[in-house]
Amino acid sequence: RCVAASASASSSPATAAAEVPAAMKAWAYDAYGDVGVLRLDGAAAVPAVGEGQVLVKVAAAALNPVDAKRRAGKFQTTDSPLPTVPGYDVAGVVVRVGAGVKGFKEGDEVYGMISEKPLDGPKQSGSLAEYTAVEEKLLAPKPKGLDFAQAAALPLAILTAYEGLERAGLAAGKSVLVLGGAGGVGSLAIQLAKQVYGASKVAATASTKKIELLKSLGADVAIDYTKENFNELPDKYDVVFDAVGQGDKAVKVVKEGGSVVVLTGAITSPGFRFVVTSNGATLEKLNPYLESGKVKPLIDPTGPFPFTKVVEAFSYLETGRATGKVVISPV
Ligand code: NDP
Repeated sequence: RCVAASASASSSPATAAAEVPAAMKAWAYDAYGDVGVLRLDGAAAVPAVGEGQVLVKVAAAALNPVDAKRRAGKFQTTDSPLPTVPGYDVAGVVVRVGAGVKGFKEGDEVYGMISEKPLDGPKQSGSLAEYTAVEEKLLAPKPKGLDFAQAAALPLAILTAYEGLERAGLAAGKSVLVLGGAGGVGSLAIQLAKQVYGASKVAATASTKKIELLKSLGADVAIDYTKENFNELPDKYDVVFDAVGQGDKAVKVVKEGGSVVVLTGAITSPGFRFVVTSNGATLEKLNPYLESGKVKPLIDPTGPFPFTKVVEAFSYLETGRATGKVVISPV
């Protein structure tokens, strides 16, 4: 932050670049495995800035289940080579600008998901580090009024919620059931369905303690899955958005001709899967909703975790009980 603040205020780009060190602190792993493979590297290389990329001084990052699945080796065949610095979600300040970059300059506050395809050749040097290099097309200006921790809580989850609802054809006046409404993706899917799409009815599932939260996010119907099976209730929906992995049950509550988007687990027809694509333009399109407060990031109250506590943060995320996003801040 300090680097960028001084750079934007008075220094020339050359001076600002000189302020970026060659080495940085970064979380990394050299082999696939559980949280035990994570180590804090005190002298990782600051990534080079390629054409069309900017270097971001990371102010905050967030964890996603995909970070844990990738670390476990689930995507080995398409992963980048080890060692890996994990982390897809970033919010921070541009401190260096690569050739051909037009949209951002040093000092700009940005947020985004750093790899265009999270499973297919993701970046080796991710956001759980002091610096990360990102294509400008994957970034958007940080929403005004949100701090870095709040902005970091958004990219992968909100892009997934948005792309899923788009692909499912949600539109004004249609109904939607969000399975897993209290998680990182689900909490945003509820809000987008209500605030951006104008859904006529939004239902969502969670356990007992999170039922009031679902309502506060805008759910018209909150189903406590410890008490009721959503697939045994009479209601049917135009869209079912499954962020849990209940594709077999999800297809039982969709209306004839409706859509069932399944983020994880087995797929039962007519359900379908997609893998989120990062895109700064989509974030920018959503910024007005974030700036007006119509759509709000939800940060798990157990956090934010400081940068030194990334192992604890992953252990918590991997319980599968997080409420909203597990955020790492400050970095
Ligand atoms: P989270 O870790 O944030 O989800 C945790 C939440 O899931 C908790 O609040 C928990 O609530 C809820 N939950 C767990 N079991 C159930 C259940 N049976 N019914 C209702 N809610 C439940 O995960 P994300 O939201 O970040 O991701 C969700 C899934 O989607 C992950 O598997 C992830 O890998 C996948 N994903 C796939 C993407 C793609 O592109 N295909 C992109 C993003 C995510 P409670 O404590 O009440 O059970």
